[in-house]
Amino acid sequence: PLEVVYDYSSLSNLSRESITDGPDNLWRYDSLLPASRERAVNIGAGMTPLLKADNLGYELGLDNLWIKNDSANPTHSFKDRVVSVATTKAVEFEFDTIACASTGNLAGATAAHGAKAGLETMVFVPNDLEEGKIFGAAIFGSVIKVNGNYDEVNRLCSELGDDRRWAFVNINMRPYYSEGSKTLAYEIVEQLNWTAPDNIIVPVASGSLYTKIWKGLNEFLKLGIIEEVNTRMHIAQPFGCSPVSTAFLNGESHPKPVVPNTIAKSLAIGNPADGYYSVKIANESSGEAIIVPEDEVSSGIKLLAETEGIFTETAGGVVISALKKLTESDIIKKDQQTVALITGTGLKTIEAIRDSITMDTIEPTIESFDETIHLK
Ligand SMILES: *Cc1c(COP(=O)(O)O)cnc(C)c1O
Repeated sequence: PLEVVYDYSSLSNLSRESITDGPDNLWRYDSLLPASRERAVNIGAGMTPLLKADNLGYELGLDNLWIKNDSANPTHSFKDRVVSVATTKAVEFEFDTIACASTGNLAGATAAHGAKAGLETMVFVPNDLEEGKIFGAAIFGSVIKVNGNYDEVNRLCSELGDDRRWAFVNINMRPYYSEGSKTLAYEIVEQLNWTAPDNIIVPVASGSLYTKIWKGLNEFLKLGIIEEVNTRMHIAQPFGCSPVSTAFLNGESHPKPVVPNTIAKSLAIGNPADGYYSVKIANESSGEAIIVPEDEVSSGIKLLAETEGIFTETAGGVVISALKKLTESDIIKKDQQTVALITGTGLKTIEAIRDSITMDTIEPTIESFDETIHLK
């Protein structure tokens, strides 16, 4: 992957005050993004709630647990952050078509930002994707279903990207796209009153989000916005697609590609572009890597819903189950400030919990209610 580099010495005017004076969305951090807020393609991504999770904390034995609820973005996942930046850059480069290879959430974010920017849109998805994700994108414009898994869709899009002058947000625009992820780190720091937490648990697919959260924390440190970063960066992956966690746990530096077979489709990237860097950061930050069994994904979703009133998708289920394991194994301690990233909404992945939910159906009479429910 290519990296965007900044001339940090020219950013001496950046301060906590200049940030808080900015707009109420991710463009408040535009001095640390590769595009400026004046021409931003903005549908309101960013500044999502950071909530103190006392009920879930009590359940797990943690006193200082926080949920960063990024499903509160306009298309209900953190992908609005990266796509807002990539689309802005695509317009600057005078592309007329915005495109992506998506594991699901990226499709909706790209299609929505493409609509807002008035660009042609080409969104490619694997054909086995959840309905909520397909229709949640198709409403904004063109979605193309591909008979293949994500890695095959990605390969097709790389070939198309060589062939046509289209801005693929996560291929030829990837360096700019990735930078959008840093804003999640900036917000967490700002919302914790300008401190970096002790632990962050991150769902990992390509590793872009994970590596850029670390970059964001360290940029704030370098610029004197915060005094220290002692954050342990934990990786959460599902059993059916865990190349990065596996490499870390085996002490290897390069993840071996796998063919994904997981219920957490938004994390189903078998050949992660930032895999090597993710393993490196986990080691550097004394983080851990967790592999969550497939049947614990829906229990993670339920635990968060029942304790905090937040309905997350499968990636969030992976994060909550990983948090539970990290706590049980005493890697995360009771008093440590811990932030779990919830990156997408459960309403797009109903399929994952459908079989584990039971409901009563009654006739519209009091007798039927009493018989079925009240007298139980
Ligand atoms: C895309 C995505 C991620 C992380 O993806 P990376 O490729 O690792 O940046 C995490 N959660 C959800 C819900 C996603 O859609």
